Amino acid sequence: MPVLTRLIPSPVVVDIRPGALDDLACVLADERISQSGRLAIAVSGGSGARLRERVAPSLPGADWFEVGGGTIDDAVRLAGAMKAGRYDAVVGLGGGKIIDCAKFAAARVGLPLVAVATNLAHDGLCSPVATLDNDAGRGSYGVPNPIAVVIDLNVIREAPVRFVRSGIGDAVSNISAVADWELSHRVNGEKVDGLAAAMARQAGEAVLRHPGGVGDDGFLQVLAESLVLTGIAMSVSGDSRPGSGACHEINHAFDLLHPQRAAAHGEQCGLGAAFAMYLRGAHDESAAMAEVLRRHGLPVLPEEIGFTVDEFVRVVEFAPETRPGRFTILEHLDLKTEQIKDVYADYVKAIGS
Ligand SMILES: [Zn+2]
Repeated sequence: MPVLTRLIPSPVVVDIRPGALDDLACVLADERISQSGRLAIAVSGGSGARLRERVAPSLPGADWFEVGGGTIDDAVRLAGAMKAGRYDAVVGLGGGKIIDCAKFAAARVGLPLVAVATNLAHDGLCSPVATLDNDAGRGSYGVPNPIAVVIDLNVIREAPVRFVRSGIGDAVSNISAVADWELSHRVNGEKVDGLAAAMARQAGEAVLRHPGGVGDDGFLQVLAESLVLTGIAMSVSGDSRPGSGACHEINHAFDLLHPQRAAAHGEQCGLGAAFAMYLRGAHDESAAMAEVLRRHGLPVLPEEIGFTVDEFVRVVEFAPETRPGRFTILEHLDLKTEQIKDVYADYVKAIGS
């Protein structure tokens, strides 16, 4: 018998709203998540303490684990500490580093992960990928995506606004990433997963077109939902293609060439996306994207994050090497240094100052 539909690995609960953290115990008590109430909760040593104080009284069966940082060693250590506890689930309560560590540790001990995100800096909060620092720099590790996602918009508001800005850049960059995917289909015949592409593109477009700003609950709701849907789009396609193209190669190149000076993930991805859209000849879309990024206080020119034009040209030149095997507008055009300089000058003129 033919398969009639496909099943999508996806969270059983997605709770995004102001005050969601107050009902965390209810979410966790769902029989699909934790019947016994035995939970392993990973938090950061610093800002995690306040959250722990707030949440702990409602979770008497939980053990708390402080996560040192965002390295593979931290994640392995966390898994080791949780191993003997007979838990139903692991809860990652914090920012990206905590959630990525918890994701990896939960996968290692074979438990489901509940992601309780305290900022919106990138689309990793519901993705099937854990990004962790290792001896070689930074690695992406495949993991199951979370069984539940809880985002309290009141908590998001307490985080520095630069985290929200970063999330905007990451979400909007989906539009460029999906365009790269389609380009690879046209040029190389790479298979595009239409559902994953639709989810990721709509997530990017929703953020791009929302009239609100970083201070509005309505806007934060759409941004948080977009980041969650992007993560699920990656589960649908089985890789990061829906949210990662030339924009992310440029981001990785900033990180690798300038590890000490690199800006936030989404700042670099947003700038990378606006430039990549220009490269592919989508000049109006590039200008519109740049306008929105500017409106939210994100950079659209390298000097706005402390890089010279020459440094940026080198970043663009190096970018394809950061992701061998991924075909984007950068690999397609294969521009030489002088050509990148020329097209960058045109981009600057096109987006205005
Ligand atoms: Zn990203």
